[in-house]
Amino acid sequence: MARPFGVYVHFPYCTHRCPYCDFAVTTEPVPGERLYARAVLAELALRAPAFDGLAPRSIYVGGGTPSLWDPAEVSEVLAALRARFVFPADAEVTIEANPESCDRDLLRALRAAGVNRVSVGVQSFDPGVLAKLGRRHGPEAAERAIRAAAEEIGNASVDLIYGARRSTVEIARADASRAVAAGAVHVSAYELTLDAEVMAEEVPLARMRREGRLPLPAEDDAARQGTAIRAALRRAGLRRYEISNYARPGRESVHNRLYWDGESYLGLGAGAYGCLRGDANAVRYGNVRAARAYVDAALAGKLPTAEEDPIDALAARNEALMLSLRTARGADLSLLSPAQAREAGEAVRRRLAVRRAGRLVLTSRGMELHSALSERLFE
Ligand code: SF4
Repeated sequence: MARPFGVYVHFPYCTHRCPYCDFAVTTEPVPGERLYARAVLAELALRAPAFDGLAPRSIYVGGGTPSLWDPAEVSEVLAALRARFVFPADAEVTIEANPESCDRDLLRALRAAGVNRVSVGVQSFDPGVLAKLGRRHGPEAAERAIRAAAEEIGNASVDLIYGARRSTVEIARADASRAVAAGAVHVSAYELTLDAEVMAEEVPLARMRREGRLPLPAEDDAARQGTAIRAALRRAGLRRYEISNYARPGRESVHNRLYWDGESYLGLGAGAYGCLRGDANAVRYGNVRAARAYVDAALAGKLPTAEEDPIDALAARNEALMLSLRTARGADLSLLSPAQAREAGEAVRRRLAVRRAGRLVLTSRGMELHSALSERLFE
């Protein structure tokens, strides 16, 4: 059977740049004349042949702020993807939306275009936390957007951030409960990361942090906030199925699961990443991040690749192991070498993992130590 893959389309335009964000983003106005959609379609024509023979499963339009994209252009891109690949009729099609640009007319137009899942960038319902994150929406707009997405599209996810300035355990708990009460069936909750080592570029909050001008909650306080979110979501019926992701049963993200299962993904758009996996090794590529340079290259018929990294068989195996340990399904024990099996046994002994149905599954405590545990298990 053909292996599955997902399509990621990056839309880099935002009305302003949030001071913690290091995504490929621009505050230039969205260009007219369908320019960005045309560039994405031009890139699709160049990259698609490499994915022939794989089975398309999902589309994810992320950003940036894709809710600023003219829905007619979103529709054009989705139609082109469906014309180029044979998606199942019920394929998951997600779009990210910001509360301030997510009204019912837009949602209806997106639904008509085939969107069946909306991910709302809420981050918090607390005005103080939102202000410190530099977000422009308030709690009411966030709640309205979730309700509208839940009612118009029937499948709403919410992004939350904890461990930010002004975040507390009470706020984290209330954020999780309020997201679900507004209609979210899926929540992604991330601790604020300002670590220069993992950031693609310098962002204002990271600089303030480095200069000692940004007091954040202490590490154990942030960890307690994460625990409070988990508990509130569990009480509301959302199950943790990946380190940072929670869903009502059956509402897990198909698209994100492809990443964690180590499958291929076709990335299109400025700053998008893609990965094509063979039987043993893989190639990952990243596109140019600057929106204008991306559009110019794609419309000139050139691949907008900025970086391309071959992943050899050993690195691919280690990556697959690390990704599978992020999930509640865990890693296939039969794929471990004797040395890895010994390490796995040690993790079980320390109650950082359990063996379940032939798989190694991290416990809550193990999830907190996921990076270190994965590294110990690497070949
Ligand atoms: S809206 Fe999202 S993508 Fe845009 S700058 Fe803010 S955090 Fe980044």
